[in-house]
Amino acid sequence: MHTCRNCNQSFQTELALELHRDTCEKAQLFCQVCGDRFRERDATEDGWHYECPSEDCAGEGLREDLYQIDDVRAATH
Ligand SMILES: [Zn+2]
Ligand SMILES: [Zn+2]
Repeated sequence: MHTCRNCNQSFQTELALELHRDTCEKAQLFCQVCGDRFRERDATEDGWHYECPSEDCAGEGLREDLYQIDDVRAATH
């Protein structure tokens, strides 16, 4: 079982989870270094310094490596 860590929804296959993560409404931030999506509160503890919650990823900084998904959608439409 594969579970979305943003909304805790479960999926039978990794592919189904991957597809879901692109549209997950609970994910608000997007890391352009690793391509992951996650909740805003997973990326910051103090609301000031943001960094990618993925352990192997060096992405950090709001509007540096991390972007609001709404901003990304607005830019591509
Ligand atoms: Zn989700
Ligand atoms: Zn990342």
